[in-house]
Amino acid sequence: MPESTSSPLTNCGYACKYTPSALFAGCGVNAVREVCETSDTSPADAALHPNLCGYAKALACSGLGGAFDGLVLTNCCDSLRRCADALRRSGSVPFMYLIDLPRCADECAVDLYAAQLRKLTRALEEHTGRPFDLAAAVAAVGERPAPAPGPYLAVVGARLEPSLRAAIESHSPVPVRDLTCMGAEGVGPVPDEARQSTDAFIGWYARALLSQESCTRMTAGNDRRRLALDPDLTGVIYHGLKFCDFYSYDYQTLASQVTVPITRLETDWTSQDSGQTLTRIEALIEGLGLTARPAPASDAEEARMDNGRKCYFAGIDSGSTSTDVAIIDRDATLVAHVVRATGARAIDSAEAALSDALSQAGISKDELAYTVSTGYGRTGIGIGDAQVTEITCHARGAHHLDPQARTIIDIGGQDSKAIRMDEEGAVVSFAMNDKCAAGTGRFLEAMARILELSVDELAQMGTDWDEDITLSTMCTVFAESEVVSLIAQNKKTADIVHGLDASVASKTAGLVQRVHGEPEYLMTGGVAQNAGVVAALAAKLGSPVRVPPDPQVCGALGAALIARDRVVGQ
Ligand code: ADP
Repeated sequence: MPESTSSPLTNCGYACKYTPSALFAGCGVNAVREVCETSDTSPADAALHPNLCGYAKALACSGLGGAFDGLVLTNCCDSLRRCADALRRSGSVPFMYLIDLPRCADECAVDLYAAQLRKLTRALEEHTGRPFDLAAAVAAVGERPAPAPGPYLAVVGARLEPSLRAAIESHSPVPVRDLTCMGAEGVGPVPDEARQSTDAFIGWYARALLSQESCTRMTAGNDRRRLALDPDLTGVIYHGLKFCDFYSYDYQTLASQVTVPITRLETDWTSQDSGQTLTRIEALIEGLGLTARPAPASDAEEARMDNGRKCYFAGIDSGSTSTDVAIIDRDATLVAHVVRATGARAIDSAEAALSDALSQAGISKDELAYTVSTGYGRTGIGIGDAQVTEITCHARGAHHLDPQARTIIDIGGQDSKAIRMDEEGAVVSFAMNDKCAAGTGRFLEAMARILELSVDELAQMGTDWDEDITLSTMCTVFAESEVVSLIAQNKKTADIVHGLDASVASKTAGLVQRVHGEPEYLMTGGVAQNAGVVAALAAKLGSPVRVPPDPQVCGALGAALIARDRVVGQ
């Protein structure tokens, strides 16, 4: 309910496609589809519970900062209800209104929603002092957009902020259909009978709004089945928000229905997580097989290879911790590989690692026919003929090293991934850790420092344990205190190390579960050299975990193989 106030209402924000925004126009108020992106949520942290999602915080920040003179929200979740409470309490949004949105579109729900719409109309009339103008409301109803025919990529789940939408569109070679909670909003045209009276209009409008493509909150059975069966659907990005459990069930249901690739993309609504987000988007689109790959034609091949003078292929994996390079020849035989610490400037490390690998192979840069860069820094280093995500490169490398492998577990310096492949080595699904260091090499490095061990020593110790110590936390900061207290209790170092390895294994097994991982398991990345983690993971998964020789170079090898595929073919 709005607080009664006499302040003018010109622009009223809204955040949900079921919002009856045409009613705003009926009272002479501009409807503003609110856009809030933020990197600083501190004003909201003071006003709201810290566990709310990044979107609720961003919205609260906009409201607290005086961005709206009116805001109409729907009670779609607790976070938005709390956000509305906080804004109403602060008085920073003079017209703060919360609509009770039904969960389905049956007759009873339509009647309930129409009653809500009438109440909102009265509140708007009261607040603005202007009577409802039916013609203005009718004119404000947008036309329901007709979807473009042909293949498309669907985005489902939580609304996309403009930068995320632009990133998806710029990577997708097929049109993107936004089926999120803020997707296409037009519900018109308004039929003649609905233009006869305000009451008839509101009755029709309530039904039309509720019959839009269901958002996650709705009982979406038929819509989701229709989507899953659509022959033009080529892939699904399911967007969810961090710290929100709301999307899991809907995602699982949709994932069990669709036969096309589907990936879960989680954002925290801050600009800081754009690197990981881009990797997920690119990997999904690569997985769809939609990227423009030059077909290996013999003319192109000969030109690229300069009549046989250029017959080597390089892969550069610019990771957060190490920069790895692999060089292969025309027969895909590995002729050089280098692992070098990533320094302060990723580009310098990449150039140095490539130069080391060229000397190891005894060839010059001119003899490289094609180079693919991958890893976290792939776009920043600007080296190579193409960039491919580490997901696709690890899969390519792993399939080459071990064709039986179906699930790759890659634990690097600051991220960990589980990638499930089919028998051809194509990525079926993948999951990545969030931004937190728990379960990564960085976590183990921090613990090694406290135990006064080198990373190598820590890696060897975890297999020689007696007592099964369980750490109560996976958080690096809290685990540090826990390890200090275990040291004070005179626990054997090997037992503490095993506890740490088991904690990494638990976190990683969660990722494996998310991709429905199945044997054979192959572990890649620097942490695959930690025998304790490998053993703890095998115990958790109840199946052996294989480790290829030089697991750290698997991504770079995959990149080199992709470089070769693009010139010579597979
Ligand atoms: P990224 O690709 O993110 O740069 P890497 O795959 O190179 O990461 O893995 C780096 C991680 O591997 C670091 O955290 C490092 O501590 C760990 N690591 C490197 N060598 C070893 C080793 N011999 N034993 C155990 N861990 C190792």
